[in-house]
Amino acid sequence: MEQKELLRKLPSVDEVLKSPHGLKWLKSYPRKYILRAIRDIIAFKRGEVLEGFTPDVNLNAISGNIEIKIKKLIERRLKPVINATGVVIHTNLGRAPLPPEVLNNIMDVAMGYSNLEYNIKEGRRGERYDHIRWILKDITGAEDAVVVNNNTAAVLLCLSAIAKGREVIVSRGELIEIGGAFRIPDVMLQSGALLKEVGTTNKTNSGDYEDAVGEQTALLLKVHQSNYKVIGFTEDVSVGELVRLGKRKEVPVMFDLGSGCFTDLRPYGIYDEPVVHEVVGKGVDIVTFSGDKLLGGPQAGIIVGRKKLIERIAKHPLTRAVRIDKLTLAALEATLLCHADPEKAREKIPVLKTLLQGDEVIKRRARKIQLLIKRDVRNALVSIEKDESQAGGGSLPGVYLPTYVVRLKVEGMSALLVEQRLRRGAAIAVITRIRAGSVIIDARTIRDSEVKPLLKAIKEAIC
Ligand SMILES: *Cc1c(COP(=O)(O)O)cnc(C)c1O
Repeated sequence: MEQKELLRKLPSVDEVLKSPHGLKWLKSYPRKYILRAIRDIIAFKRGEVLEGFTPDVNLNAISGNIEIKIKKLIERRLKPVINATGVVIHTNLGRAPLPPEVLNNIMDVAMGYSNLEYNIKEGRRGERYDHIRWILKDITGAEDAVVVNNNTAAVLLCLSAIAKGREVIVSRGELIEIGGAFRIPDVMLQSGALLKEVGTTNKTNSGDYEDAVGEQTALLLKVHQSNYKVIGFTEDVSVGELVRLGKRKEVPVMFDLGSGCFTDLRPYGIYDEPVVHEVVGKGVDIVTFSGDKLLGGPQAGIIVGRKKLIERIAKHPLTRAVRIDKLTLAALEATLLCHADPEKAREKIPVLKTLLQGDEVIKRRARKIQLLIKRDVRNALVSIEKDESQAGGGSLPGVYLPTYVVRLKVEGMSALLVEQRLRRGAAIAVITRIRAGSVIIDARTIRDSEVKPLLKAIKEAIC
């Protein structure tokens, strides 16, 4: 067929829109994106013709292309992925997966109206934070609690409310940066508090703090070294010592715990992670931590401590700017209820379950993945190896969790290409890592229900 003839045959936007396909699309897709897709595909076909190709330009043929284009345009950008990295609290992959109890509670509360800020008993305005105050007090032993958007906001708010224009004493060994631009000195600057560094990178002692306390001191701040460890010739001041010093000097002590763990991990051989109620029990005046790290709940910044200080913090104008919404509140309440029983929490909360699962369970899952790949993917070489996974997300630095990984090599394909194809999979993205020319699939962070989709993704990526 001649070029002119083909161009003449190419349907107009209007023709496509009024065709049975067009009318069907209008029922389910936004008109704007239907039009964009039609224009794009027609322009593409016209381009092909002008370049001398002879594409099929009848309406039925191009409708298929248009429908694919529409679906691509309105495809979800935020979507589930399979985390095969072994990093349990992966900040880039959404930190804590939530348990069904939590999701059900979100649905229940968010589908309709709720008593978010309404006191049902008295029939008047209520307080947003009342719903979780009691259980936070119960679990942590603190006098009072308030919750904001994330732990960064919690720290900023506490410093603003307690120490604006005055000095905060921090050890040089604790002037940390957490991935994603949380730096203690920067947060301090934003709050208007003045940072007074004491000690050195590897050693700070109680005398260093004591010498620094003066008229202008508003707070002694301790920060959990969430994502690194200083090893060797080191010394830091214990929580207990800092509390004693604070009492003597009448200066409040704040501890930014970062992760905020409710579960005693010592029976699992993890000794360095402070448990929130123990820290509170030692007399720290203000404790802050995240909702979506070891707590395994939604993104939130939890502040617990002395009633007088919490009241001051809650009244600060910044609290309104960083307040949590009803979805978070519903999720957090359900998460906290799961934590009310530590034994059950270990089973119910995915972060804890994934961290604390026995290596036999992980090995069995790895075997299953290996067998399925062996059975279904001919050009794959798979083996199982002992390895170590990490907690991640600024939690449990230096703690390596024994795991089993599936090492995958594909004949005629580089590891880089396999990793990329898995990541860009059409059905679901699988996030893996590469080591020594192989793709490494850590069985720790793969849910049993994800084994089948994982295999399907591997088949699609390789075959
Ligand atoms: C993670 C972390 C933060 C930041 O918490 P977000 O909830 O991510 O804002 C602050 N301080 C410490 C010590 C942390 O580990």
